[in-house]
Amino acid sequence: MSITLPVAAAEVLITSPGPQVSETVHQLLGQGARVTIEASDDPAVAPLLADLAGRGLATVETGPDPRGFAVTLRDPGLHQAAPEPAAASGNNTGRVTLVGGGPGDLGLLTIAGLEALRTADVIVTDRLAPLSALAHARPDAEVIHVGKIPRGAFTPQEEINRLLVEHARAGRDVVRLKGGDSFVFGRGGEEWNACVEAGLPVHVIPGVTSSVAVPALAGIPVTHRGLSQGFVVVSGHVAPGDERSDVSWASLATSGLTIVLLMGIAALPEISAALVAAGLDPQTPAACVADGGMPSQREVRATVSTIAVEATAAGLTPPAITIIGRVVGALTPQ
Ligand code: SAH
Repeated sequence: MSITLPVAAAEVLITSPGPQVSETVHQLLGQGARVTIEASDDPAVAPLLADLAGRGLATVETGPDPRGFAVTLRDPGLHQAAPEPAAASGNNTGRVTLVGGGPGDLGLLTIAGLEALRTADVIVTDRLAPLSALAHARPDAEVIHVGKIPRGAFTPQEEINRLLVEHARAGRDVVRLKGGDSFVFGRGGEEWNACVEAGLPVHVIPGVTSSVAVPALAGIPVTHRGLSQGFVVVSGHVAPGDERSDVSWASLATSGLTIVLLMGIAALPEISAALVAAGLDPQTPAACVADGGMPSQREVRATVSTIAVEATAAGLTPPAITIIGRVVGALTPQ
């Protein structure tokens, strides 16, 4: 089922939010609505509401007055008609397609990705995927949300692999939908390997990676003639000095390349300090862009030595990308 609002830019209230509320919100945002959601203490729903509110995508209120809203919508639960899982037949007729969904805006999903979603029996989706695309799924498609909320509720990767294999073994056409490109910090390689090891056919549809698209959406080219001859995409998930880190930040500091940092909000103070300590000019321009491509896109621009403080002051939260390099000032404002 898809939602079409009677008026654009409406104030919409969602009551009785269900486990698919994120999907509902993304569809409404795509039509220009401003969304408020009635609070819920359902453990399957409350973390989703906290995530949506934390990213500025919706407001969550206890006991909102419906008279203040142009549209009041009881959360329709867009894909509740899940088919009964078929018994494993053992005759591997199913398949898995890893679809990179782009950074969140439906327009940045590829035509091939959309086509795969249209025909899928089962869609296993992440929270950073373009959830409004699920409106194009078959009405009887089973949609399984396995979104990983940072430091919150998540489905372990082994369980996701198991789901993909189980549904494909039952003869289903399974789409694994995620944000950006499946192979850029997307664990798509692990999913691919799990499918192959299970003897299942697996395909990949590349996606528009946020590591290039989000800087572009903020007016920052990752390379620019005369300013940068290359860029490196690096995970800031663990800070320099952490025993789990195997990134040579010192090499990056002197590489001359644009540094595109993903998952690096929490460790930004340590990362920027390590780069400067290893010789990167403290005046190097830097920008931090949160929720790129979404109505809630926010950004700050500073230098590598001040970006962590400025990002915190501006209240930027994940998902966010930090770009460090002279390309940050490359484009002439129009
Ligand atoms: N496979 C994805 C990246 C997954 S890692 C891709 O190719 O884009 C998740 C990280 O990607 C986030 O922590 C954030 O750093 C970045 N990211 C993804 N979508 C984003 C968005 N719309 N805006 C800002 N950062 C985003």
